[in-house]
Amino acid sequence: MSTEDGAKTWSTPLAKTLADVINTTGPVSVAAYMRQCLTAPEGGYYTRLTEGRDQFGEKGDFVTSPEISQVFGELVGIWLYAEWLAQGRKDKVQIIEVGPGRGTLMDDVLRTISSFKAFANSIEAIYMIEASPYLQKQQARVLSGNDNLNKTDLGLTNTCKYLPGVNIVWCEDLRFVPKEDTSTPFILAHEFFDALPIHIFQNESNSSIPASSTIMTPTGPIKPKHGALAPQNQWHELVVTPIMSPPPTTTASPEKLEKDKMNVPEFQLSVSKSPTPHSLYLPQISPRYKALAKTPKAIIEVSPESLSYVSDFAERIGGSSPTPAPSTQTPVSASTTLKGSTPVASFKKEQPSGAALILDYGTSNTIPANTLRGIRAHKRVSPFAAPGTVDLSADVDFMALAETAINASPGVEVHGPVDQAFFLETMGIRERVERLRKGAQGDEEKIKRLESGWTRLVDRGPTGMGKIYKALAIVPYIEGKGVRRPVGFGGGVVG
Ligand code: SAH
Repeated sequence: MSTEDGAKTWSTPLAKTLADVINTTGPVSVAAYMRQCLTAPEGGYYTRLTEGRDQFGEKGDFVTSPEISQVFGELVGIWLYAEWLAQGRKDKVQIIEVGPGRGTLMDDVLRTISSFKAFANSIEAIYMIEASPYLQKQQARVLSGNDNLNKTDLGLTNTCKYLPGVNIVWCEDLRFVPKEDTSTPFILAHEFFDALPIHIFQNESNSSIPASSTIMTPTGPIKPKHGALAPQNQWHELVVTPIMSPPPTTTASPEKLEKDKMNVPEFQLSVSKSPTPHSLYLPQISPRYKALAKTPKAIIEVSPESLSYVSDFAERIGGSSPTPAPSTQTPVSASTTLKGSTPVASFKKEQPSGAALILDYGTSNTIPANTLRGIRAHKRVSPFAAPGTVDLSADVDFMALAETAINASPGVEVHGPVDQAFFLETMGIRERVERLRKGAQGDEEKIKRLESGWTRLVDRGPTGMGKIYKALAIVPYIEGKGVRRPVGFGGGVVG
């Protein structure tokens, strides 16, 4: 779009801010672009006010499993109960959810848990990790019955309508959730990791870094110490730049121009010519990336924020490794992008306890490549059009999460990923739906909804939710006790 004097106009205020920043300080990583588009305080996709309409459901941009059927959250609640039983009925339980959306999953989980009295009594507090102040209020309306949030040292709080005497605490970041050696944290992450920013690297053969090139770091530019490097395979980061050229003049109607404005990409990806702080270290953190070091044009997507979150999950369950895990070590220059991963004092647990259940879409064992996508109103759109109005996400690299969790804590084991269909079916989705169907006799509408909901969740077709969504569990590893498969991952109920 351009004004009469030929100056470019941007689709959203955020697009203009991003373009101005890039034009002043240089191209930004895909991760920095995603972070701004998703959670910038002014105009981020999750953080902006959406005037009576949120991102979820048929009227929003996408539908998630907990929104499709109450059975999803009920089975997750039963999974937590089964873990709590298998671990010897611990007290001081924390229920934590990262990225809770509308609060539907937690609502179904807490309603289910409230009928297991001993488990419910062991719960000390519920923590909701949510970046959006509007969604925090929405979650409070669902879980507390009102959105009067009280400020405390940890965050905002309200009571839980299902568990008398238990508080719900809203925090922007997992780091604010107390980490105690005697706590038993049960952590849920549904469609959270796909919303965390990724860096993208492409392997370039015959890549040589010119002697004159400077490396941009958050603390300022630095020159390579040894001048130009000999040509060789190297990882180059894909970076984001604005498309500055005004589009050709058209005779289209103002309505059409307005519509186009929301769909035309305003930014583009290009291969960074010089190394970035991230291209120098992220492709080195795992043998899986190193195995592709000599494959020209190989592309890898790496989400350091995801790795940092999953390390935190593992440490809360199993205590931290005596030596820091290789995949979370960060050069000081890049620490600003790695929330929560700055070296912390080692955290010892009295005994490993708790669990994390990660449900999302992504790859089981391959490294995601070319998976950055934009979604608006249930349709794929360019991730570079109308920043802040489009949901951005990328496939979750489950193997990277598993590898990182194991490196982060000697006190955990990881199970899965298994397909969502396998998880839900072995958790008893058929039996649960059958019971609900009997209870709904005569209510044809409800029966239809139940039927279509559960079949959609376990659909094993190539693009079905049962196939593309996966479940991964992080559970305690206690020396001498051997491996115990959790229910839903091939194990039976114990305890
Ligand atoms: N779990 C929900 C919502 C998934 S959408 C469901 O399945 O329906 C992603 C959620 O994560 C939203 O609630 C969004 O506001 C939140 N979110 C995204 N990035 C975040 C971040 N960096 N920190 C905390 N919350 C974040």
